[in-house]
Amino acid sequence: MMHVVSVSGGKDSTATYCRAIERGLPFRAVAADTGNEHPATYEAVNSLHLKTGGPKVEWVKADFSQQIAGKRAFIEKNWEKHGVPADLVARALAVLHPTGNPFLDLCLWKGRFPSRKAQFCTEELKVNPIDQKVTRPLLATGATVISWQGVRAAESEVRKYLPPFQRVGGHEDLPGQLYVYRPLLRIESVEEVFAIARRHGVDPNPLYGWGLRRVGCFPCINCAKAELALVDQHFPEQIDRLEEWEAIVSDACKRGYSTFFNLVNDPVMQAEWLELERTGLAIERFSLEQFGIRRMVEWAKTDRGGRQYSLLARDFNTVCNQWGACE
Ligand code: SF4
Repeated sequence: MMHVVSVSGGKDSTATYCRAIERGLPFRAVAADTGNEHPATYEAVNSLHLKTGGPKVEWVKADFSQQIAGKRAFIEKNWEKHGVPADLVARALAVLHPTGNPFLDLCLWKGRFPSRKAQFCTEELKVNPIDQKVTRPLLATGATVISWQGVRAAESEVRKYLPPFQRVGGHEDLPGQLYVYRPLLRIESVEEVFAIARRHGVDPNPLYGWGLRRVGCFPCINCAKAELALVDQHFPEQIDRLEEWEAIVSDACKRGYSTFFNLVNDPVMQAEWLELERTGLAIERFSLEQFGIRRMVEWAKTDRGGRQYSLLARDFNTVCNQWGACE
């Protein structure tokens, strides 16, 4: 039997790692590098074994080189035939080369950023790499694998109904069996979660001290409005990076544009966007200056559309909500 603890640098997965130490038997700890984490999160994960005496966390990382090569071949063969303007084809072919950053390469391959309704990031950047590089090889040996997930029932309606221990399907081609164990499920308070880590000498990820409710991707595409304002205030270089990514991913997009955050988050921007669509001028007139990350940051500093767009406060039924892969 092999126990595998998923770690993200956040409070719940850190407490889960500490609980595994308290159990006193060997385990492996794994983290998925999305390429969109804050340096403090990498530091929190990389120092965990030094502070606790537990196992060093193994990083896994998705690689989309093959998918990007496949997309290049598809574009060369088909886009002009499908009526895509030659300048957009040339722009896409120029930019479609792997960068080695999983988040950016995923968006290059997909030709867009993920969104709440198309949240392919969790699966492609976290669930699949851990499955392919850790879980499946263990199951192939015939082992029983217990995957420890740091989720709490008190966090959301969806998590409330999860069982503490569960058999997981989807690996019937392999001789081993996979179970999920959720050791924090009945813990209600965040303070209790932090206390578990503290008794092993682990302080909270410093990002919590900056006022962020969750760590993980920095920022997450589901980032709350107030959190986006905090990111801009304290870590403006992260906004610079996203601005650069928007320009790159837009070049790989058939429409010629893609934004990190969904356009409909800001009611004023949404009205402008609907007007462009109504007049059939969306592709011609769209600009990242008008709809991109900088504009979203400006909106995040305003009062309009605030409370109802605090997305992480919502309860949505996604793979990350059930698996705790995105804290
Ligand atoms: S933290 Fe957010 S952006 Fe990152 S993989 Fe999860 S849902 Fe996607």
